[in-house]
Amino acid sequence: MAELILDGVTKYFDDDGERIVAVDDASIDIADGEFLVLVGPSGCGKSTTLRMVAGLETISEGEISLGGRRINDQKPQQRDIAMVFQSYALYPHMTVRENMRFGLEESTDLSDEEMDSRVEESTSMMGIHDLLDRYPRELSGGQQQRVALGRAIVRDPAVFLMDEPLSNLDAKLRSSMRTELQRIQEELGVTTVYVTHDQTEAMTMGDRIAILDGGVLQQVATPLECYHRPRNQFVASFIGEPSMNFFDVRREGDRLVAEDFEYPLSAEIAGKLEAEALTLGVRPEDIELVEGEAGDHDYAAEVLVVEPMGNENSVHLRIGETRFIATVGGMRQVAQGEAVTVRLPEDAIHLFDRETGEALH
Ligand code: ATP
Repeated sequence: MAELILDGVTKYFDDDGERIVAVDDASIDIADGEFLVLVGPSGCGKSTTLRMVAGLETISEGEISLGGRRINDQKPQQRDIAMVFQSYALYPHMTVRENMRFGLEESTDLSDEEMDSRVEESTSMMGIHDLLDRYPRELSGGQQQRVALGRAIVRDPAVFLMDEPLSNLDAKLRSSMRTELQRIQEELGVTTVYVTHDQTEAMTMGDRIAILDGGVLQQVATPLECYHRPRNQFVASFIGEPSMNFFDVRREGDRLVAEDFEYPLSAEIAGKLEAEALTLGVRPEDIELVEGEAGDHDYAAEVLVVEPMGNENSVHLRIGETRFIATVGGMRQVAQGEAVTVRLPEDAIHLFDRETGEALH
């Protein structure tokens, strides 16, 4: 069993006498075989977390255990963990075969034949069999990354740690490598922690995602749960593209009063609320364009800009001076300056405490 547990893990750095808290009391239980994605904006502490698991960074407070054993004080080589970096980190003076064998020679005492057969297996898994005698400089970026992944696979570790492994690849290759990586991870069943700042990558790859901001874990849940039930406004804005629209509102009984519109609430939702200063959130893809102003949640709006995105359009709108974005199917023609009716369906709204950002509904 390779269950990886972070319990109250904290990392302080000293920056010219000033204490920086890079990771603040992070606790995550990562199940055996799980694919966990650590995601968040630049500087939120993703790499530091991963490096503590790898043993490349000391742990200031808390405990990390793997398969029930505390690994805080183990050297990186002792941890049965293989790490893949964005930079590939291949040895330039070694062929692909030598690069792959090097890791094995360092961390195992396998016979020559056993090593050869492991290299064979993992190179065919990664589709790099024909490249075994080449040097890294003779490979494309995508091929180098395959070798870097192959080098992690060949070690047959208990855990894979991956730090933005696909971010040097072009968009198309990145997307196909994502699928391939998932397939391989599933086939091998190796517990994996994958770091990215790209929410699309997190949403499509992770069994669960752990969202970090300012060193603090904001939510650890399945991608769909983070999307549908974000715990706070940060998660709501980070997950989803284009981002959720937010409106400052004041609750007056069972109505939300915004700058340019009023939003009646059902008794069910209004009854849950205590705070008055709220933020109303609606995802662009949940906003509908409708004919006439029939419903309670329909508003007259003007189209400001239409951004075509292939099969959909990103439509920038305003109600009075309040601006927001709706994602509209490509079949619905809308033109700049057009007067339309938008619906903000009640079953799609999110409400946050404006002070704390905590999700209330
Ligand atoms: P990115 O996506 O940009 O790589 P990240 O989420 O991986 O960012 P970290 O690299 O973990 O973030 O950094 C977290 C915080 O810790 C940042 O504020 C960073 O400046 C700080 N930090 C990281 N390494 C050190 C160090 N060796 N000394 C001092 N501060 C550091």
